[in-house]
Amino acid sequence: MAQELAPKAPRKRARIVRWAVLSAVLVTVTVLGYLHQVVGIGKPAGVDALCPFGGLETLYALFSSGTLVKQIAMSSVVLLLATLVVALVFRRSFCGQICPLGFLQELFGGIGRRVFGRRFALPGWLDRPARYLKYVVLAVLIYLTWTTVSLVVRPYDPWVAYQHLTSAEVFTDFGIGLAILGISLVGSLLYDRFFCKYLCPMGATLGLISRLSVFKVRRSEATCIDCKACDTACPVNLRVSETAVVNSPECINCNECVAACPVKDTLTVSSRSGNVLSPIAVTGAVVALFGLVVAIGTFTGNFDWQVPSLATEAAQNAATSGAPAEAFDVTLIKGRTTLTEVTDATGIPAQTIEQVFGVPANEQSKAIKDTKDVYGYSPGDVRTFIELYRDDPVAALAFIPTGAEE
Ligand code: SF4
Ligand code: SF4
Repeated sequence: MAQELAPKAPRKRARIVRWAVLSAVLVTVTVLGYLHQVVGIGKPAGVDALCPFGGLETLYALFSSGTLVKQIAMSSVVLLLATLVVALVFRRSFCGQICPLGFLQELFGGIGRRVFGRRFALPGWLDRPARYLKYVVLAVLIYLTWTTVSLVVRPYDPWVAYQHLTSAEVFTDFGIGLAILGISLVGSLLYDRFFCKYLCPMGATLGLISRLSVFKVRRSEATCIDCKACDTACPVNLRVSETAVVNSPECINCNECVAACPVKDTLTVSSRSGNVLSPIAVTGAVVALFGLVVAIGTFTGNFDWQVPSLATEAAQNAATSGAPAEAFDVTLIKGRTTLTEVTDATGIPAQTIEQVFGVPANEQSKAIKDTKDVYGYSPGDVRTFIELYRDDPVAALAFIPTGAEE
């Protein structure tokens, strides 16, 4: 019996829509990351506030003591919730339809296919055990973060390195993360989604949950012509043509296989009860579901689109630790802090700061890291001075900054 061919236009449109969403997310977070690095007070939230894995890292601290791991914001918990909700309905859609790091790898994969004319795959004896690496990474990171209540992964995180590409810190603080980013992107030239397949702890988490998902890719054995176009299209090298339902935790719900299938209604995204969604409808539903959770987080005041000011951070710290408001926690002073924020949070006049550090008032709204070399001081000097000033404001004026980093 001749099979009815699937029209090409809708299949092409599905791919364009998915790439449009991925491009929009990549551009948005890249711009936010850049602004976070270069804008002063009131700057957009940084990578630590906009990563769902941060939500997982802080979960234990949140439930056990009601606090967040330092640098993580409540918005990361909201994003974690959004990815989990989406995964329960549409498998690892976060990976295939939203994640900007995943999309970067996909772009490199596309370049690789143009250059080499094909997609490569590691031999099975190496590929299969290597796929378990990401579960080891997940277990180690969760154990270390939950027991130390600190962001142990930060220096090694390729996405954090990407978000610091415009900062001088990218080489000093995130050199290993940068190397992993480079390996992941270069690796993706040959082996699509290299980091997703072998190392990503977020992908490992969502893969475990995706077994419960409502919608999966299903193949009709009755109409399949065994052309293997779906296998060739799959970026994570699944053998779609040999399965009735794609249950693998490796499936990132990109629906490239569905778009590649030439036979009408042979590969579908459908539920066990037979509800079928087109790939475009899946992308729309994923964006809507994810956006709804983020919108609820925003309207309930749990989504941090902006970095809290130093004064707000100090007040929050004092409230959670029970310390009196005047006991300003000097460890909040970082290279990214501005001297204007120090004035706002501690009440030390701008003129006093100019007198001690030599930084004129019109330079005090810049991050300390951007003026420290010009004026010969360091974040550590600022911390020491605040403590001296708190004890004796007059004697503190004799303080001489050393410029030494701790
Ligand atoms: S099986 Fe299909 S939906 Fe899943 S990753 Fe492969 S191509 Fe994408
Ligand atoms: S693309 Fe896959 S599911 Fe579709 S006809 Fe070819 S082998 Fe069968």
